[in-house]
Amino acid sequence: MNALAATNRNFKLAARLLGLDSKLERSLLIPFREIKVECTIPKDDGTLVSYVGFRVQHDNSRGPMKGGIRYHPEVDPDEVNALAQLMTWKTAVANIPYGGAKGGIGCNPGELSISEQERLTRVFTQKIHDLIGIHTDVPAPDMGTNPQTMAWILDEYSKFHGHSPAVVTGKPIDLGGSLGRDAATGRGVLFATEALLKEHGKSVEGQRFVIQGFGNVGSWAAQLIHEAGGKVVAVSDISGAIRDKNGIDIPALLKHVKEHKGVKGFGGANAIESNSILTEDCDILIPAALGGVINRENANDIKAKFIIEAANHPTDPEADEILSKKGVVILPDIFANSGGVTVSYFEWVQNIQGFMWEEEKVNSELKKYIQKGFKDVKEMCKTHNCDLRMGAFTLGVNRVARATVLRDQIW
Ligand code: GLU
Repeated sequence: MNALAATNRNFKLAARLLGLDSKLERSLLIPFREIKVECTIPKDDGTLVSYVGFRVQHDNSRGPMKGGIRYHPEVDPDEVNALAQLMTWKTAVANIPYGGAKGGIGCNPGELSISEQERLTRVFTQKIHDLIGIHTDVPAPDMGTNPQTMAWILDEYSKFHGHSPAVVTGKPIDLGGSLGRDAATGRGVLFATEALLKEHGKSVEGQRFVIQGFGNVGSWAAQLIHEAGGKVVAVSDISGAIRDKNGIDIPALLKHVKEHKGVKGFGGANAIESNSILTEDCDILIPAALGGVINRENANDIKAKFIIEAANHPTDPEADEILSKKGVVILPDIFANSGGVTVSYFEWVQNIQGFMWEEEKVNSELKKYIQKGFKDVKEMCKTHNCDLRMGAFTLGVNRVARATVLRDQIW
């Protein structure tokens, strides 16, 4: 099932549980605005090349739309639509005053030089600058983009609108970025995992983790889980996969990845097949890469008892059903990875206040938001007698529905 079909399906199940009327359901599902732009840039060798860029603004009933910009070859309109919708429910689950949006450019950033990436980002910003803004739509990093990308967007946007640090989050600290933002999604994953395990009478200490993806989210999650006493027994990224049943030395792995640009060749663990990573023996599986990776092909072979969705939409609905029958507990993306956008909110607040918080305050506020989010999701699970995914969806959809009705935004 493609990402949009899967997301729509989960939304509709939640709408049924909440008993939403069909007009409201339709209003909530249809995106506010879908932008598609052609971005043509000269390559370093002087030849011209074009990339298609998207920004889907899904919903703004609770506040400015918010979400990352992804640079990846697989970016397509359906995927961006699905991810924008997920942002709407995610910001509502986190209870931060935002709607949802997502952007992307169908390109392979690994094949672009830094100056080509800069030109592409600036052309994209020139094409969408009138449609984003501090109180309308606030982009952030996602897969394939980073604080430098946000610095280029900020600079290009500011040429049209004056210096506006709050127009993007996930910026470099020197340009008004927040302390703790870089680690925030991974730290949120740790806090969310702790909340879930506590409910099952367990703690992170001694649990065996497998992490798929070692980018910003996966590597921070690994580091923080390792520091909390968890045993990371297998890790993969685009370069390969490694395993050590006694627990990988994560600080040494981080050093290796910095030097070699991937986990491949790390001497402190054994190389394994990349496509077996999700079915490796462990207690807790953390998909932290692309969507749709857990599906009917591999769901039956998953050995983890808990899945923490650090990626967006890693689990296909068909896999959801199989895993639920096996008794696997899944902590859904719109809650599990909400730490990133929550600290983006703190960054935006700091920019608007013109004041910088200490990192300790950022991390302790994040912990409060994640713990409250978990309590709220559980409450919905009880009310609607449903699993954690539907608990999170009903929580998010209900908050957005209430705002939509109060503002009389039903079409
Ligand atoms: N790209 C991240 C996400 O999918 C962060 C979005 C943001 O900070 O606005 O949640």
